[in-house]
Amino acid sequence: MSHKGLLVILCGPSGVGKGTILNKAMHKNKNIRLSVSATTRSPRSGEEEAVNYYFKSIRDFKKMIEKDELVEWVEYCGNYYGTPKRHIEDLLGQGYDVVLEIEVEGAARIKNKYPEVVSVFVLPPTFEELRTRLAGRGTEDSEVIEKRIERARQEIEHADKYDYIIINDDIDEAADKLNCILQAEKLTVERN
Ligand code: 5GP
Repeated sequence: MSHKGLLVILCGPSGVGKGTILNKAMHKNKNIRLSVSATTRSPRSGEEEAVNYYFKSIRDFKKMIEKDELVEWVEYCGNYYGTPKRHIEDLLGQGYDVVLEIEVEGAARIKNKYPEVVSVFVLPPTFEELRTRLAGRGTEDSEVIEKRIERARQEIEHADKYDYIIINDDIDEAADKLNCILQAEKLTVERN
């Protein structure tokens, strides 16, 4: 794919703070755009259609798969999530750096399709800290939290396959690191 912007994967277990890091980074870097995913999960309080996700019924999500509208999709802890194709290609073409905030299976598929992708994995300072954050968030019931913690254990095993690792022990520092990574990668692309 030839385009002007960077394609970036921001991966890491649920509850690690990917969304918060990205929001902070976007505050300082106006060239970043989030790829808004489709999901069959119900909206959490405060989440908005087309801002956080495109909230879909299972039927409509399956239609998107059939019409080949998703670059990748996954079933994660009982819900479907997928990256709409057209949106990211449009934004990259306009020169924006597009960040996909996704889990590891989807990330692996994106890496296969777009080898030029820059991949970043966010780790919690400790696993216990992650458990505390997930439970403290109060957005899921205990069964879902346990599923996500189990999944997080598996996901963390993949961290060393990524170009960069950010340890999220300070949210501002983590956001600054993400912006530094994007700047460095842009310079590399410009030089080559
Ligand atoms: P949550 O329900 O907490 O918003 O998301 C659950 C997990 O799914 C998170 O790790 C999130 O990054 C991931 N995710 C969100 N959208 C997508 C997507 O389009 N594709 C994939 N593969 N994962 C996604």
